[in-house]
Amino acid sequence: MAKAAVSVAKRRPTRQIHVGGVAVGGDAPVSVQSMTTTKTADVEATIQQIYALAGAGADIVRCTCNEREAAEGLARIVPRSPVPIVADIHFHVEMALAALDAGVNGLRLNPGNLRKPEEIKLVAAEARDRGVPIRIGVNAGSLHPALYERFGGATPEALVESARMELAYFDEVDFHDVKISVKASNVALMIEAYRLASETFDYPLHLGVTEAGPPPGGLVKATAGIATLLAEGIGDTIRYSLTADPVEEARAGRQLLEALGLRERKGLDLIACPSCGRAEIDVIKVANDAQVALEARKIPLQIAVMGCVVNGPGEAREADLGIAAGRKRGHLFIKGKIVRVVPEGEMVEALVSEAEKIVSEGIEARLAAADASAEQAAEEDRRELFESKGSDANHSDERVIEIRKHLRALGGDAPPAGRGATAAGGSQGAGDETSSGEDGTGS
Ligand code: SF4
Repeated sequence: MAKAAVSVAKRRPTRQIHVGGVAVGGDAPVSVQSMTTTKTADVEATIQQIYALAGAGADIVRCTCNEREAAEGLARIVPRSPVPIVADIHFHVEMALAALDAGVNGLRLNPGNLRKPEEIKLVAAEARDRGVPIRIGVNAGSLHPALYERFGGATPEALVESARMELAYFDEVDFHDVKISVKASNVALMIEAYRLASETFDYPLHLGVTEAGPPPGGLVKATAGIATLLAEGIGDTIRYSLTADPVEEARAGRQLLEALGLRERKGLDLIACPSCGRAEIDVIKVANDAQVALEARKIPLQIAVMGCVVNGPGEAREADLGIAAGRKRGHLFIKGKIVRVVPEGEMVEALVSEAEKIVSEGIEARLAAADASAEQAAEEDRRELFESKGSDANHSDERVIEIRKHLRALGGDAPPAGRGATAAGGSQGAGDETSSGEDGTGS
């Protein structure tokens, strides 16, 4: 619903191609891709997975085309798919031609394993005549042995050279409907390869860290590579290659683009404080319950769950909607303004209900419908909580006193004068160590 006000670096200009109805490159939004894990010949299972991927944020889906039955499956899948379908081709030129016959919206060729120039040119000429784009999908793990030898390994230069050689074959048959990927499982290598590709070509780039592995490590690696490049303005379409349900790939891709402000928010963005000594609720549980309920309803808002009303509404004032815990009650706020107070046991329910109303009525209407006494109730809770927990909600002063007591008992020196030296009195230590409460550092 809300478009991020701030985005990352200006995107580097590239040509634009079209994969079915999805524009890639130029000024088109960065698109999300994923790949099915079903047998392509199993049409019903594949269609079901494609719908799940599209629902999770995939704009383009790739299916393997490794045998005749897969190509025949594609002929039935493409017309029923909600998103463009790209056929993934390895080794067999016949499969590339069969996929084109099946009506796919794009091909991915790996120059490392479809090597004969005549075959490459034949596929490119067929794709040209049908207006179907091809991704030159270079992969560090399957680099042509001659390039491996020439460059002394799978270097960024070797990966880019592989793409350049394939482009030269395409040029010979006047085919330019191309995007390029230079993937590697090594994140640093992948980043350097794409930087070089971006300097070398003006074709759109498909970003990915190949074989990133299972989450959470795979998510971290893929995000490190893809986000770094996107933040430099490099990349036109992305794929997370996770060892997981591909729905997670599509979701991660979409969430990354939304987080970087490169795509309009389509799904939920739940933010929550990390909790601290001030928390009046089990923040982890409430945040998880809220996430499940809001995701089930596909609420496209940024929603905050904050552990206390002392800092919560202020720190999450940019969120569309949020809830912060007060004294046994929850304070609902919209864009930082408290609009309603609800019993603690009804916090999640109230949050979901308000989110649905915002989606149907809009933020301004819901702000106008605010309970006039809510702000006053929040102020009372805020004051009481602050007074009861003081400025040392995390008990840091007590811990400092304990440390010093133990050190003295062990015969250690008193701590150096200055920072926290008068913690026994609480004031200096509280000021230095525990500002998390009042000034919000804890969040
Ligand atoms: S002070 Fe911040 S981190 Fe601590 S409970 Fe309140 S909102 Fe959460």
